[in-house]
Amino acid sequence: MTGNGDDRLRLTDLPLVPVACAMCGSDEAKVIVSDPPFEVRRCGRCAFVYVSPRVPDDEIHRIYGDEYFQSDCPSDYGYGGYLEDAACHRKTFRKKARFVTRFKQSGRLLEIGAAGGFFLDEMRRRGFQVEGVELSPRACAFAREQLGIETIHNARLQDLDFAPASFDLIVAFDVIEHLADPFTALRDMRRLLAPDGVLVLQTQNVASLAARVLGRRWHHYKHLEHIYHFDPDSMRRALAEAGLETLELTAGRSGKYISLAFFIERMRRYNRIAHLLLKPLEPLGHLRFYVNPFDEMLVAARPET
Ligand SMILES: [Zn+2]
Repeated sequence: MTGNGDDRLRLTDLPLVPVACAMCGSDEAKVIVSDPPFEVRRCGRCAFVYVSPRVPDDEIHRIYGDEYFQSDCPSDYGYGGYLEDAACHRKTFRKKARFVTRFKQSGRLLEIGAAGGFFLDEMRRRGFQVEGVELSPRACAFAREQLGIETIHNARLQDLDFAPASFDLIVAFDVIEHLADPFTALRDMRRLLAPDGVLVLQTQNVASLAARVLGRRWHHYKHLEHIYHFDPDSMRRALAEAGLETLELTAGRSGKYISLAFFIERMRRYNRIAHLLLKPLEPLGHLRFYVNPFDEMLVAARPET
């Protein structure tokens, strides 16, 4: 774990720069959420939703170091104790594995943003040859040492030299909304997929009911890290522009198993009174349940022929 004090990333030290729409380049936009210094904008030309200002491209990877999975303030940034919630992640990824294996039952798998390796572990048990890419050294070390996954790379996808068409399945759960250039990333994924390969993504849906009802309190508005907000339309367009055909796009199975402790922590953001009422339940924090607010999309796509 990264230590205390001076070597810890201070988010307020990261520079912020104004940006235009990454999908079409226009800087004409309507502000849909204002949360100074950040704005969530809907592009006036193509309707894509993005955050401005944001951390510049070449600094973004700094957000996803060891602090990310051990955040002091997880409702704003990262996860509080991600690696300690193993039982929840395993149950979540078992469900995800059932979705993914409807499209591919065997072969070579690449996971982008593999975190502690729980999904890779599930898929390895199902007979896949697995590789992972993960920016956090601590999460990589966990996957190697605790789960025995040696094929997890502490690097960015663009720094690795995978051969074109070398994967039957590529997955990226809760990743694309964080990337400086998701459109180049999708083209990279397309290039790495075998001709009959499948890509599975998950990301939050800014057109969902939860997003519209909760407004600026929606839990996916974490402006430093969620710099793009797709909806079904912009997702299909982005995939098509990368040469990928959407096979399925669903809010089903996009939920997560969470612990009561995690739920109580997240409630702080929505309702302080509810949070105070729930606080006495903290000794039961280890209890787990499945939550799907239907505000994310699970998407499967394949290379266009
Ligand atoms: Zn645009």
